[in-house]
Amino acid sequence: MSKRDYYDILGVAKGADADEIKKAYRKMAIKYHPDKNEGDKAAEDKFKEAAEAYEVLSNPEKRQRYDQFGHAANAHSANGGGYGGGGMNMDDIFSQFGDIFGGGSPFEGFFGGGGGRQSSGGRRVQRGSNLRIKVRLTLEEIANGAEKKIKVNKQIPCKTCDGTGAKDKASFQTCKTCGGQGAVRRVTNTILGQMQTTSTCPTCNGEGTTILSKCTVCHGDGVVRGEETITINIPAGVSEGMQLSMSGKGNSAPRGGVPGDLIILIEEIPHETLKRDGNNVIYDLHVNFVDATIGTSVEVPTIDGKVKIKIDPGTQGGKILRLKSKGVPEVNSYRRGDQLVHINIWTPKALSREERELLEKLQNSPNFKPNPGKNEKSFFERMKEYFE
Ligand SMILES: [Zn+2]
Ligand SMILES: [Zn+2]
Repeated sequence: MSKRDYYDILGVAKGADADEIKKAYRKMAIKYHPDKNEGDKAAEDKFKEAAEAYEVLSNPEKRQRYDQFGHAANAHSANGGGYGGGGMNMDDIFSQFGDIFGGGSPFEGFFGGGGGRQSSGGRRVQRGSNLRIKVRLTLEEIANGAEKKIKVNKQIPCKTCDGTGAKDKASFQTCKTCGGQGAVRRVTNTILGQMQTTSTCPTCNGEGTTILSKCTVCHGDGVVRGEETITINIPAGVSEGMQLSMSGKGNSAPRGGVPGDLIILIEEIPHETLKRDGNNVIYDLHVNFVDATIGTSVEVPTIDGKVKIKIDPGTQGGKILRLKSKGVPEVNSYRRGDQLVHINIWTPKALSREERELLEKLQNSPNFKPNPGKNEKSFFERMKEYFE
């Protein structure tokens, strides 16, 4: 079968950037997802085709090779991830979804994380359990996205037996109970006639093979306790309580099964001076009434470092200055929130005699009499402005 062009499959231009490719694939994956198209072979083929195209075009190295050599580029690579040979299997496809749909996406429930699927062919493959970790991020890390290398204590494949659980090759034996099928059929006579039921083979637990002598290190499990350093790419804009999942990075499964997922729970480390409010960042600035009266310029912290802002003469307390795009980006978007600088007028709490005398001279000065004009915005108007 001659293959269609990967760019055509996803409906993107040759020069499409990573974001466009991801978006296009997302659309296809939703449209042709098997859960929505049960029994529709054409949809399944489209689903697989799109996954394969995405697998290649989302990987800069593979994409470059594909651009240069076309489909022939990886046809014979041993571990092409399905690029070439017989296409990707469903498990591979679902394992991509951790990256595509990430945590906190509206699709999470719909795709169920892609886990727990049985591989086709009857034999049961054991699945490793999911692993949960917490990652604490500063506001700066949240704003810029972060790459975290985290040492995770988990079940890893046993090196001695290569994860098989067997002492050596000769220790494997086809299960005598099920003949390697992993399932047993039972025929029972009922008043309605003969009924046939199929159930998982009790001898081999559905694996199809039994092990005569077990590996002495893992005692036949194929997994041992160990450590793995995992690089986690956290997209910008995540927030407290959000969960990301990385498919296949959880606990390894016994005897070469499918590993579980790594679930990453996001925690925010509170910033010293900046408060996050959705994608906006709020900063409380205090200026004394002299500065507010005659004007000044002050430095305020932002996620990107210090920024100088001007305080106009005659600035009233409660004014909100908006620093455009100095907030936190939205997840999977380039749009950033703003930083809102809330101006508080600082009134001295204690005065020296000299200070007091100076102020007493001003106390009854005509310009010091409060005289809010009709154009002065009310507190509620300012709040309204803020929430818009
Ligand atoms: Zn069996
Ligand atoms: Zn072992």
